[in-house]
Parts: sequence; structure tokens; C-alpha cells
Amino acid sequence: MRYLSTRGAAPALPFEDVLLAGLAADGGLYLPESWPQFSAAELRGWAGLSYADLAIRVMAPFLGGSIPMADFERMVREAYAAFDHPAVVPLKQLEDRVWLMELFHGPTFAFKDLALQLVGRLYAHLLKKRGGRATIVGATSGDTGSAAIEACRDREAIEIFILHPEGRVSEVQRRQMTTVAAKNVHNIAIRGSFDDCQDLVKAMFADAKFRDAYSLGAVNSINWARIMAQIVYYVRAALLLGAPDRAVGFAVPTGNFGNVYAGYAAKRMGLPIERFHVGSNRNDILARLFRTGEMSVRPVEPSLSPSMDIQISSNLERLLFDLYDRDGKALAADMAGFRKTGTLNLTAARRARLDALFSGFRLDDAGTLAVIADLQKRTGEIVDPHSAIGVAAAREAAKSGAVPVVALATAHPAKFGDAVRQAVGREPALPSRLARIMTETERCKALPNDLAKVEAYIRETLP
Ligand SMILES: *Cc1c(COP(=O)(O)O)cnc(C)c1O
Repeated sequence: MRYLSTRGAAPALPFEDVLLAGLAADGGLYLPESWPQFSAAELRGWAGLSYADLAIRVMAPFLGGSIPMADFERMVREAYAAFDHPAVVPLKQLEDRVWLMELFHGPTFAFKDLALQLVGRLYAHLLKKRGGRATIVGATSGDTGSAAIEACRDREAIEIFILHPEGRVSEVQRRQMTTVAAKNVHNIAIRGSFDDCQDLVKAMFADAKFRDAYSLGAVNSINWARIMAQIVYYVRAALLLGAPDRAVGFAVPTGNFGNVYAGYAAKRMGLPIERFHVGSNRNDILARLFRTGEMSVRPVEPSLSPSMDIQISSNLERLLFDLYDRDGKALAADMAGFRKTGTLNLTAARRARLDALFSGFRLDDAGTLAVIADLQKRTGEIVDPHSAIGVAAAREAAKSGAVPVVALATAHPAKFGDAVRQAVGREPALPSRLARIMTETERCKALPNDLAKVEAYIRETLP
């Protein structure tokens, strides 16, 4: 198995190079040159497997022999043993044809753990094999930072530096990062905005001398291995609801399009998925794209679902690659135009293919609070604001559709206690692991928004 870049100008690479590289050299994203196929008999045989055993079978074809199977199996088992629910991703019925799959039972209570708990292990394993070290650098507005830290903590050969905007992440989110007592974990609070943090990280990667001297690496959402790990829970949900003999739909609260793209990959592999309902908050570039065929950038506005406050969904490029019949050159030209003008128009033929599989759904903050309140009243279930948008999209779809729709719950409600209190009048109980961090010692370095100072700090801090 080899991987192609969506922009067609970088060499095809095997799994391990794709994992370590993240972004392709031509600025594109990697994806497999062909989709492994699930047969109906294979799917039937997987119905009773544990989550880890299912994960091993779903992901094995993507490795292309890069990692010995025994090592891979061990890493998968360890990754999902770190979850605090025996089913890993429990599935609950909310209403007729509306289901909720909880993806937040990992160490940081957000769905990113499902991929990052495995990717951190794979990354460390491949570094060790190559005898190298890496300095993971990332910027976070909240959830990604803590999931990356938990994935990399205490790993030999990795040092991790996470930049967050000082005073602009919630106390729980900050403490999830700063209370991690591991020698290789370094938090930096930047006096600036999230965009400043992201620009600093980009500038470090663009500084070739610095990047090469310290072997900078990233585990951000464009990394193919994260998509690969996320395919598994789509298979799990579909099997529980009758695949391969019955079809399902999915409603996915979406930001960077990584989560829902993994579902699309599962569909391409032969899983009977009828449709994807893509949830957005007021930052609705995707909902507008699905409605009009035009992708046009507007300024990002803060909302109650901050992990979906995005302007450009980077993983959408992987889907576009297929809509462009894998013509990387044509896609690269249109992406360059999009970068320049902020607008990309799909041809009628491409738009029709998008329409066949994806619907957009938009919900503002007031609507989100109303869904949280209504669901709590009718079922007792409390969901976070991101998940609420997924539930609303699933309900809408179930009204007219015939297949069950699974809404993916992407964060534990306690991570967004403020919004939940606005909706139902009280905050959800903090799980004991989160309660503990509220009193633990924090470690964090405050720095100005200044590239030289941040690079100097990283240089001095590395062992
Ligand atoms: C990251 C995140 C999302 C968005 O996921 P994408 O893969 O970027 O589309 C949604 N909800 C929560 C809670 C998240 O942390």
C-alpha cells in the first residue's frame, strides 16, 4: 500500500513515511492509492469482536507491512485500554431511528483521543526503529493540545511543545494540558490569539534550519494515520445496526472534516453508509458549499462549539481529490485560486456527486442550547454543544429518511460546562479524572508573540 498526495506533485510514499511526514512536500494531503475492500462475509464475521480486535482488522490493510503485526496489535490494545468505557465507543438509542455514539471516553474526553492514542504510539515506534528523535510542535485552541499531549507524554524520543493563547482557553482545557507531569511535555502560553499561535508554529516549520536541527514533527488533523484510526468506529456503529445487510447514516459535528472524511473512507471501503449529515455552527462554510456548490471564506465567529469555529476545513481537500477524479494538478490549481480569492466553485458534475452523499446542516448557538435542553428533558441524556449539533442533524434526517442515523458525540459534556448550564440550569458532574486536575500543580511558560523568543525557549528546553 502506497499513498498519493492530493496535489499530485510529491512522490508516493509508504505508510511509515506518510505517518512521520504529515503534510506532503507539495502542500497536499496523503491518501491511499486504492481503497481496501470489506466483503460482506468479512463484515458479518466481525460482528462480535472487541473494539481493539475490530480496529486491528480494519486498519491492517493500510500498513503495507511497515509495522510487524505483533507490534501493531500490542499498540492498538494499549491505545484502547486507555479508555474508561468497556465498549470504548458505546452506542445508545435516543429516539426512533436516532442513535448516539459516544466518542469521548478517552483520556482527554474528546473524540481526538481515538486517533491520537494510537498515533502517538505508532509515531514513537517508527522513530525508535529509525533511531531518531522528534520535537512535536503544535498550536491549540483547546481540545487538540491536550489529546496530543496525552498521546505523546512519557514517550522516549519525543518532546512535545504545545502553544495556546494565554487566557483564551477554558480553565479545564488549560489544566488538562498544564497539569501533565511528564518531563517531555512543555506548555507555552502565548500572549496573543490562537491565530498567533498557529502562525508561530507555521513559521517554525518554514524555518528550515530550525526545523531540521530539531526534527520538528506534527500530529495535526491532516495526518493520514488519524483518519485511518477513525474509520474503525464507523464500522463499529454500522455493524451494531445491521451492516452489511442494512444501511446507516451518520451525523457528524464538523470542523476540519477529518472525522466525517474517515466515514467517507469507510463508505469507499464498502460499508453500507447511505448519507453523511455534516453539522456546522454559525461558521457554516460547509453547509453553504453543500447547498450552493460554492466554497467561500468568511471571517470566523466564536460560538458555543469552538472546535468547529473554522474557516477552511483542511481535510475537505481529500474529498475534493476524488471529486476531481484524482487529478492532483487540477486540484492544486483550484486550491491555489481558493487561497488567493477565498472562493472555489464546483462544476455541476462534481456538485452532483457531492450531493449524492453529503448534506449540510447548520445550527446557531440558540438552537444548540435548545437541543441540549430538549434532549435532556425527553431522554435524560446531556450532550455537549458540538454533539448537540450532530443530534439535531440526525433528528432532521430521521424525520424523512428510512435508515437509522448515528450522531457522533465528540466531547464529554463536562468539558463545556458553561454551555450546558445555560441550557439545563446546572453543570454536568466532572468525571473524577477531570475533578482531580482542578487542584494539581500547573506547569507552563508564558512567552510573547515573538518567533525568536519561542524558538530560543525550545532550544534551551530540549534535553
Ligand atoms: C475536533 C473536534 C470536532 C471537529 O472534528 P473535525 O475532525 O475537525 O471535523 C468536533 N467536535 C469536537 C469536540 C472536537 O474536538
